[in-house]
Amino acid sequence: MTYRGRHLLGIEPLHPTEITTLLDLADSYVDLNRRAQKRSDVLAGLTQINMFFENSTRTQSSFELAGKRLGADVMNMAMQASSIKKGETLIDTAMTLNAMHPDLLVVRHPHSGAVDLLAQKVNCAVLNAGDGRHEHPTQALLDALTIRRAKGRLHRLNIAICGDIAHSRVARSNILLLGKMENRVRLVGPPTLIPGPMKDLGVEVYDDMREGIAGCDVVMMLRLQKERMDGGFVPSEREYYHRYGLDAEKLGHAKPDAIVMHPGPMNRGVEIDGTLADDINRSVIQEQVEMGVAVRMAAMDLLARNLRAEAA
Ligand code: ASP
Repeated sequence: MTYRGRHLLGIEPLHPTEITTLLDLADSYVDLNRRAQKRSDVLAGLTQINMFFENSTRTQSSFELAGKRLGADVMNMAMQASSIKKGETLIDTAMTLNAMHPDLLVVRHPHSGAVDLLAQKVNCAVLNAGDGRHEHPTQALLDALTIRRAKGRLHRLNIAICGDIAHSRVARSNILLLGKMENRVRLVGPPTLIPGPMKDLGVEVYDDMREGIAGCDVVMMLRLQKERMDGGFVPSEREYYHRYGLDAEKLGHAKPDAIVMHPGPMNRGVEIDGTLADDINRSVIQEQVEMGVAVRMAAMDLLARNLRAEAA
């Protein structure tokens, strides 16, 4: 097994063999998680601290569950109640925690690059749980695992990523990962939500939804990230749904066995039709959540092996 990194900060530095290593190990954790007895002790004796400076449902709960299932001592910092509110800087908070000797620090932050900066200051392994519009590596890995299990492979697939690409770290990490694994990635959305430089990442860009998803194996929908918008990027939600919302009719243009994905949280009736999102024959949204726990277990397991090797 090879995973060279001390941290997991993004998909960008990963080699395809590291991605495969991570996904293979995650597959074994899917099996463990489906058993009645879900405990392993690979992180026993280690301390994991979760620091979420931005709201989260799936990511925070799955990192917590992942650590607990692997036997770590897990602490969730309540960032709303922390000294950050009193003006303490991110780095001061991180250094304070560092002095308590954590082994794994899981960090989500609204600013791109904040998690990388923090990783340079602390002694433990840092996992990026989403930084601004930059990267969300465990999301891309759980999406990759979901695709690999549904399609039986993770290469030579046509994958459409649709919607608010501009504000999405999920899109960025997925474009990087799917490109490294030799898939054809298309970005579909209004030109206001697809930044020009994205075209340099080796993707095809479409502003017509039906054309964009035609013949695709995977249709990945994204949320309109209003909290990151500082102006009118779309005329109205109604108009947006009409042109870019995924419903059964538009999905009819993809391959007959195409799967539908969404990282959550979903806005039903804005980017996706609620009935389609719940259709277990097409939608793998619940599988994505299941894969999230397994991928986070695998990531922390591999980083802990490297920590132990370093200490030995
Ligand atoms: N949950 C994902 C993220 O944190 C996607 C989203 O918020 O729309 O980036």
